Amino acid sequence: MTPNETEIASLGEFGLIDRLTRDFPLKNPSSVKGVGDDAAVLDYKDKRVLVTTDLLLEGIHFDVRYVPLKHLGYKAAVVNFSDIYAMNGTPKQITVSIGMSSRFTVEHIEAIYSGIRLACEIYGVDLVGGDTSASATGLVISITCIGEAEEEDIVYRDGAKETDLICVSGDLGAAYMGLQLLERENSVAAAHGAPDFQPDFAGKEYILERQLKPEARKDVVEALRKAGIKPTSMMDVSDGLSSELLHICHASRTGCRVYEDKIPIDYQTAVMAEEFNMNLVTAAMNGGEDYELLFTVPLTDHDKVKAIPGVSVIGYVTKPELGCALVTRDGQELGIKAQGWNAFPRPSESPAQAEAEAENSEKSPE
Ligand code: ADP
Ligand code: MG
Repeated sequence: MTPNETEIASLGEFGLIDRLTRDFPLKNPSSVKGVGDDAAVLDYKDKRVLVTTDLLLEGIHFDVRYVPLKHLGYKAAVVNFSDIYAMNGTPKQITVSIGMSSRFTVEHIEAIYSGIRLACEIYGVDLVGGDTSASATGLVISITCIGEAEEEDIVYRDGAKETDLICVSGDLGAAYMGLQLLERENSVAAAHGAPDFQPDFAGKEYILERQLKPEARKDVVEALRKAGIKPTSMMDVSDGLSSELLHICHASRTGCRVYEDKIPIDYQTAVMAEEFNMNLVTAAMNGGEDYELLFTVPLTDHDKVKAIPGVSVIGYVTKPELGCALVTRDGQELGIKAQGWNAFPRPSESPAQAEAEAENSEKSPE
């Protein structure tokens, strides 16, 4: 801790809560009472209320060695907004619960909240409560988001129909390649052991931003509404396209065909995959954290959906008997398997374990 940093214990729990939450004026009429009582009070009149929550654990979901705390706060909020937009709703309130070990100072936690505040300002969301605790195992952030929608506007995962078009916003795989880059530079820096080591990120800004400062696709939900399109199914791409396609097809009892050459991929993602000797399509299909929207629309909306900038039609929904497949450039059909983020990897699937196993097998005498 430097002399101008403040130990959390010196403020106490209530002093800290006050310092963290005082610059969050309420903006939404549905936020009747925010921070400062035993519970927040919300008024949604005759709207449907949407609730989603996310848990972020240091060492599992983020690494504070290369994720700036302000970005961490921003991302923790935005990924929750993304879940509400994926229901075709509008996020309105969040609660933020935070656990921190004594390594963290008041200024560290304030940096997280400055990111949360920025996200709340940009997306028009109110902070209405939370919980604060010491933690024995590093930093923990859990955000719950509450949103609204008219009943008839809500889009579930289970409404895809045979012949619907499968669409995705933006581009895929960039956040994953950004993470690969950050992890590589971090291990290079560790190997150097020099505090003045400067990683080389020139020309890689886009993939880093996609990893560190993702956005929720509010604009896409609005563009669909303006175009008069209600998707038949929708979800956000957090675990990877393959995994999300299987979710939609499973919930809707359908199959799908997705074309390799239609999957939107940014140039920097392609350059990075080449540098890492990775298969680009695999990275785009299975890399997570893009927070784009994957949705299906009736075939009759083809022209309308094609006219929305930044939305790609990547395939179509089939009968369930046909299964889910990726059609390669040379016309082969590959079965789609979920290989994205898994919260509970088997020991042999975890990268650290795989590395340890590889090392052990190299060392084994046979
Ligand atoms: P309780 O004892 O009822 O859990 P707290 O003393 O923990 O209440 O919290 C007091 C108020 O501050 C409540 O409105 C709570 O929602 C809010 N709050 C507590 N921690 C946070 C936090 N980390 N971020 C935002 N609001 C918080
Ligand atoms: Mg409490």
